Amino acid sequence: MTVAEQLTALGAILAQRSIHSLFQPIIQLSERRIHGHEALTRGPSNSPLHSPLNLFAIARQAGRLTELEAACRESACRRFSEQQLDGKLFLNISPESLLEPHYPSGRTLKLLEQVGLEPGRVVIELTEQTPTDDFQLLSNALHHYRDMGFSIALDDLGAGYSSLRLWSELRPEYVKIDRHFIDGIHCDPLKREFVGSILQIARASKAQVIAEGIELAEELAVLTEMGVDLVQGYLLGRPQELGLRDGQPVLAQVMPVASGGQPTVGLNASLGQIMELFGRHEHLDSLEVLGVDGRPCGLVYRNALPVLASSRVNPLPQGNHCP
Ligand code: C2E
Ligand code: MG
Ligand code: MG
Repeated sequence: MTVAEQLTALGAILAQRSIHSLFQPIIQLSERRIHGHEALTRGPSNSPLHSPLNLFAIARQAGRLTELEAACRESACRRFSEQQLDGKLFLNISPESLLEPHYPSGRTLKLLEQVGLEPGRVVIELTEQTPTDDFQLLSNALHHYRDMGFSIALDDLGAGYSSLRLWSELRPEYVKIDRHFIDGIHCDPLKREFVGSILQIARASKAQVIAEGIELAEELAVLTEMGVDLVQGYLLGRPQELGLRDGQPVLAQVMPVASGGQPTVGLNASLGQIMELFGRHEHLDSLEVLGVDGRPCGLVYRNALPVLASSRVNPLPQGNHCP
């Protein structure tokens, strides 16, 4: 696709609002519950602008980033609220659009009011794709959002331009450690040192640390051992679209097949999906697991969740996966 064709495709996406929002759970291990969901945007599925990276790159090039971000924010808030998702809504927002003088922050508040979401449930994830040169301006803009009740997360710490300076200037409530430091952490003592230092600074600055991009049970085990409490990644739940069945919100991959009206999970259900179901059905102490033939083959107990997360529901990979 040429740049001209991409610009035309972007125009159509913005005109038809043909973006959708996926949600990935962020899990709080100590509480065995979903702390929140990160909204991740996708373009139309048959388009080269399906990936948010391509979509946002071309919008930036076309000078339409703020417009696209406003549309993504609206889609995410509406879907989150319609699906009655648990916990906080984490929204990716670039500093460029936060600083955009033409974007009235009151519009976000109005949107939240329309969909019935308290600003206290929304976390702005600051995604730095270009260097910030005016920290003061960014800090003022964020204070404005904080005054309205929003929290702030510094995304992708350690990658690109997401720097320690931003952390020290903005004092975010959350820092999300970039996947680079999580990938293979169980095999890499230096990565553990980095994460250990981040945890120390976080304690001093009273920020909560989120480890993202966890794919292996070994990575989760090391991070848990080090004291990371908020975790996100394919191991715990992939970004996914949620649907409605019989008027009730359901995760696409969880099978709410009624056996005596109770929800059930498939063999490949992730920890995030299981926690989602336990969150929705507070009276349940266990969930039935269905095998590939659709017949019950086991139970997942609420109070055994962390054990199941690394051993049974997401089977432990063989070996230690170190090169
Ligand atoms: P991000 O905010 O750092 O989001 C995390 C990315 O890592 C997501 O990619 C997610 O699908 C992926 N991911 C999550 N868990 C794992 C894992 O275990 N392993 C691996 N390999 N990847 C994992 P995605 O959805 O392609 O988004 C890419 C980036 O696009 C996001 O990075 C964010 O910077 C940006 N983005 C997405 N949606 C929006 C949006 O609505 N607004 C803005 N401004 N940026 C967005
Ligand atoms: Mg993010
Ligand atoms: Mg990130």
